Amino acid sequence: MTAQILDGKGLAEKIRAEIKDDVAAFTRQTGITPALAVILVGDNPASQVYVRNKELACEKAGIRSIMHRLPEETDSEELVALIKELNADKSVNGILVQLPLPKHIDEKAILDLIDPQKDVDAFHPENVGLISQGRPRFLPCTPYGIQQALIRYGVETRGKHAVVIGRSDIVGKPMALLLTQKGEGGDATVTICHSRTQDLPEITRQADILIAAIGQAQFVTADMVKPGATVIDVGMNRVFKETIDENGKPQKVSKLVGDVDFDSVKEVAGLITPVPGGVGPLTVTMLLLNTLNGARRQIGAQK
Ligand code: NDP
Repeated sequence: MTAQILDGKGLAEKIRAEIKDDVAAFTRQTGITPALAVILVGDNPASQVYVRNKELACEKAGIRSIMHRLPEETDSEELVALIKELNADKSVNGILVQLPLPKHIDEKAILDLIDPQKDVDAFHPENVGLISQGRPRFLPCTPYGIQQALIRYGVETRGKHAVVIGRSDIVGKPMALLLTQKGEGGDATVTICHSRTQDLPEITRQADILIAAIGQAQFVTADMVKPGATVIDVGMNRVFKETIDENGKPQKVSKLVGDVDFDSVKEVAGLITPVPGGVGPLTVTMLLLNTLNGARRQIGAQK
């Protein structure tokens, strides 16, 4: 039987419409338009696309986006000064530094400088600590989006075995934390796998919920998946294929694929996210929600 598709794009549109209404109500009540400051350093093409998507999504939701596009040669001191300025600016509710930063800048040191109250990516150690204690301020956008998708598609997590492949600070680790929390979208028994894991297929075959955040094209194949499992594909990998154009000339075309071999796995899984149109749109959606919630909290704190 072919799996049901978890339509992340459609779900993201639905949640964004809810956020748009909530932003409008917040602005009516407070006279404040929530604002997100986004810092992009350099001209990484993928980062430029991500930042543009975030900017458009903010605009549509009624959130003000304040873009800071800085040249590749920007030094740490300039970046530190900008973050301090944004931390102090009461009209800014969220601050996001698009990663990766150029190699000459210490990424962790920069992220640690962001005011934890404005840390909409939830990368600051204070926010990570709060999540691990089960009293989050912000939830990191990708795991938050996945958890919402599981809840809204009625996927039971309580008592289920969730296997997360990947242990990054951005996706794998926080995803595992969210699934182990008490309550809705949590209470799962979680296994985290990584490049040193032995007998990976043996473990993934035990998963009721399998989350792949590896960064390797079509890594998860049908034989690694338990029949009927929910498969969430976080990966975004650009692969290139040689084709021949109408003039007989070889041409390279690129395609975005996930960490899951979608065509084979959809024949085994019960529910599966596509790439594109799965996790990606949900990630940006949760950024909007975090910005609104940041603004709500900051107003509360200022009263
Ligand atoms: P990282 O490179 O930081 O982490 C990858 C993880 O996968 C590591 O923990 C690594 O293990 C593990 N891994 C690598 N190879 C294997 C293997 N052969 N077997 C088992 N585990 C392996 O990546 P991210 O977490 O940042 O991102 C993962 C993917 O998700 C990427 O494709 C990225 O583009 C995508 N992404 C998508 C988002 C979205 O919104 N859709 C958001 C963020 C990321 P080890 O730690 O041992 O090296």
